[in-house]
Amino acid sequence: MSPVIIKTIRIRKRYLAALVALVFLSFYLTRAQNDRAERQAVTAMSQALASRVIVVDPGHGGADTGVAGKSGALEKEITLAVSRLLADNLAQAGAMVLMTRETDSDLSNPVTAGLTAKKREDLERRVAIANDNRADLYISVHVNNSPAADRSGARVYYQRGAVQGGKAGRHMQSELAQVLKNTGSQPAAVDYYITRNTSMAAVVVEAGYISNEAEEKLLLDPAYQGKLAWAIYAGAVKYFALENPPVQRPPENDKLIQTFKEQEQKTLKEP
Ligand SMILES: [Zn+2]
Repeated sequence: MSPVIIKTIRIRKRYLAALVALVFLSFYLTRAQNDRAERQAVTAMSQALASRVIVVDPGHGGADTGVAGKSGALEKEITLAVSRLLADNLAQAGAMVLMTRETDSDLSNPVTAGLTAKKREDLERRVAIANDNRADLYISVHVNNSPAADRSGARVYYQRGAVQGGKAGRHMQSELAQVLKNTGSQPAAVDYYITRNTSMAAVVVEAGYISNEAEEKLLLDPAYQGKLAWAIYAGAVKYFALENPPVQRPPENDKLIQTFKEQEQKTLKEP
């Protein structure tokens, strides 16, 4: 090869490296710009939350620790941390936020004996807070667990057949997918005690898998908890801004809840 050709190839290599760097830079700049635009869009829509009653429900608490990770992380602590951040976001936008618990405690009566009886009472009270206050949205925060150690990602669950729950679930799942980039865009339909017995749009957000070592670390990271809280908040904003569900519910809903509660005596499913 003549010296001239070698020189040309070297220059081309340098140009190529610069080009690759530029492509990466523009990719990251575009993504940062998109994230900023997305945040601005959510903020612009956030007045849709004004005077909405939203229940934020940190799963488990007290003796009921929920699931545990290898490093000792407890579901009840992660759910409370994420819920606090979520409640702050919602309240700042003007929503009336009710938290089912703000400390490390469950909601059962201290004199009630037996784990099953305590769990039932705990869940009944969480649901009652939402129904008695005629909430517009119920967000229960949980953490997932699986025997498959590589399973990961956040997932939103709603009551099978619930129209408003499904809409809220889709907006939240879509935001989680966009913000965390670790999950699909579709929520899952389930039949859980809390989603079945609440009379408003209700979702259970499983923030991630504590059984996955890498995700367990993320779930304990305040910055990641902030991302989770933001995504759930953005989903709530879009649900109210774009779906505009009626605030007034028909009075016969109360009868419906009672019926559900009577049926519930047989089975108790919860996340
Ligand atoms: Zn749970």
